Amino acid sequence: MTDSDAAEVAPNDSSAQAPSGGEGRRGRDPDCLFCRIVADEIAATKVHEDESIVGIRDIAPRAPTHVLFMPREHIPSATDLTVADGPLLGRLFSVAADFARSEGIADNGYRIVANVGRWGGQTVEHLHFHLLGGRSMSWPPG
Ligand code: AMP
Ligand code: ZN
Repeated sequence: MTDSDAAEVAPNDSSAQAPSGGEGRRGRDPDCLFCRIVADEIAATKVHEDESIVGIRDIAPRAPTHVLFMPREHIPSATDLTVADGPLLGRLFSVAADFARSEGIADNGYRIVANVGRWGGQTVEHLHFHLLGGRSMSWPPG
């Protein structure tokens, strides 16, 4: 690895931080549906909750298991993620994998999807990953 490569990925490089300050410092948007669910201002069926991640059952499930995993902090979409969000994402995927095992869908396989923007089909602008399982999935998605 060259010095310039190292500079690109160095976790302490200030250029790797989100403009708003990186993990844990983006706060909440009072008008955001998922921020309000995270804050228990709007009811949802929570399947997981820790200091940085919340998981809820999707209100309109597209598969026998359909859960959304999201950061507590308001990150609008995957396009806003930076290198500094690596630990947050690692935790989120680990939580999702544990949940899939506990739900009994892990052995057959499942899908994790993040829709981004209008053409990507994103309807809620707070980063979330759909975990879909309990049935066979087709490819490519519509
Ligand atoms: P996306 O369209 O990728 O942004 O995903 C948003 C998801 O949030 C959709 O699958 C919706 O069914 C789901 N959703 C919307 N409102 C709620 C809610 N109040 N509780 C749980 N899931 C919701
Ligand atoms: Zn939000």
